Amino acid sequence: MAVHGIDLGTTNSAIARTGPDGRPQVLAGMSGEETTPSVVLFASAGEHVVGQGARREARLDPEHVCALVKRRMGDSEWRFVAHGKGWSAPAVSSLILKSLVADAGYATGEQPTSAVITVPAYFGDEERRATVLAGTYAGLDVVDVLSEPIAAALAYGFGRLDGSPDLAKAGRPTSETVLVYDLGGGTFDATVIELADRRISVLAVEGDHQLGGADWDERIALHLARAFCAENPAAEDPLDDSAGAQALVLSAERAKHQLSDVDRTDVVVAHDGARSTISLTRTELEDMTASLLRRTLDLTRACLAEAARRGVAKVDSVLLVGGSSRMPAVAAALQKELDLEPRLHDPDLAVARGAALYGEKKELERMVGADLRTRGRLRDGAPLEDAASGDLDESCRRVADAYGVPLIQVRRAVEITVDTVVSRGFGVLAVNSMAGRLEPAWLVHRNDRLPIRTSRSFGTMRADQTEIEVTVVEQQGQAESSRPEDAKILIVGEITGIPPGYDEGSEVRVTFQMGFDGVLHVTAFHVDAGIPLTLTATTGATLSQAEVARERDQLGRTRRRDG
Ligand code: AMP
Repeated sequence: MAVHGIDLGTTNSAIARTGPDGRPQVLAGMSGEETTPSVVLFASAGEHVVGQGARREARLDPEHVCALVKRRMGDSEWRFVAHGKGWSAPAVSSLILKSLVADAGYATGEQPTSAVITVPAYFGDEERRATVLAGTYAGLDVVDVLSEPIAAALAYGFGRLDGSPDLAKAGRPTSETVLVYDLGGGTFDATVIELADRRISVLAVEGDHQLGGADWDERIALHLARAFCAENPAAEDPLDDSAGAQALVLSAERAKHQLSDVDRTDVVVAHDGARSTISLTRTELEDMTASLLRRTLDLTRACLAEAARRGVAKVDSVLLVGGSSRMPAVAAALQKELDLEPRLHDPDLAVARGAALYGEKKELERMVGADLRTRGRLRDGAPLEDAASGDLDESCRRVADAYGVPLIQVRRAVEITVDTVVSRGFGVLAVNSMAGRLEPAWLVHRNDRLPIRTSRSFGTMRADQTEIEVTVVEQQGQAESSRPEDAKILIVGEITGIPPGYDEGSEVRVTFQMGFDGVLHVTAFHVDAGIPLTLTATTGATLSQAEVARERDQLGRTRRRDG
């Protein structure tokens, strides 16, 4: 029955759920490991291996091993090809999810059927949709997609928010502003979050989902390859061979981990019959990756500046999450350049734990809502806030009794609210009559508070026009740009059904709606006729229905093998 929380990470994934005491527990599978490498080996046309086994194989069979698939989410063209079959990013991700589901089933004896899946805060609409599709492919009801920093903040705030009436007595501040610096394997997010008594609000989001620990590994691998080639001029460059490159990247990652604890390490590179022992120091590592760290600092600064515009004069704490934030250079740089004192907060598991707490919240809210509705104390479709407080109290009590959940846990679930903001701007391409060209007209702006419902009116270009072409775009860079080539096209479609008989310039209102999940819904309305119009996407960035059906079939034919 429990809604599970899943951290579908770039390099590692984890699944959690709340226990009988309301605390989130990470569920380990048969291997006993709490995290599973997000790696899939396509062993044959009908068999695959997920996790550690697949990761080990990366060296021996690199062509059939798919890693870092999260970086491909939202790229509908991308396919991983193995044994003559193409796998989209949601399809590969679904195999990872299925493996986590099996692990959870093994740990609890109960097969998860619904889940909250986390995504980087900076993920756009397409990446979020792709994540939902991965969940559905894995047979899960995806209750919500939740931003990773919110999940981390939930896990962190859990202790604070739990039993908050005593907070003031305990001498702790009742409100705390937190910067979450999340540097994972493939993505970076900086988020400023305010934790008040019963409210978690995201105030600003910045990030880059092509920046993470894997970039550090690449730089180190390049350095190792150069050193190896200098010592062995007759040998082939390991980077010119896919197995050699994979092995080198794995050695680079191992060295990076060691250099988080010690100042110097030796890396053995053996390739093409030659062998070198290359010594690497932490200072060298930091020098060759300085520009990567700098980029995270610049994004963090931009995030703090945005939060300042929203009235946050200073942050009270800095949470470091994501495995790469273990590199000592991260805390040192935040301390030195931004004068912030960071602390490492459960970097590998906070996100899965927070997702489990959020999943529980969603589930208990749903049960309380259903109870109120069956008793006629809440209108269909109305939010829980609309219920009278006495009714809500009684309903929480009934749900607590019926499901054997402590009352405080049910109350916490319905009382804690989570506010968030949108991570990108969204708009439509429209003719700018002054400039005489098509330009994005931005309807939704980055860091606008969710949920959003916003409209913009456009005039028809001629009398009796029955259709309008629309192109919905998403902001790509840091700032909104007026150049169409800077935006990513989400939907190219047509608004149809405009009745004839209207003059040029008759008003068509386009509405963008976005819920807490950050997924965009576009509708259109003809104002003079007072009727909704139909928006048909002729090309969209997501997979077509036919492709989804084909992939489902293909997924049904592959079996997981233990690695
Ligand atoms: P995550 O996506 O949060 O699981 O983070 C995985 C990333 O963290 C990978 O790039 C790892 O190489 C990196 N990582 C994990 N442990 C360490 C460590 N001790 N030092 C440096 N990087 C680490």
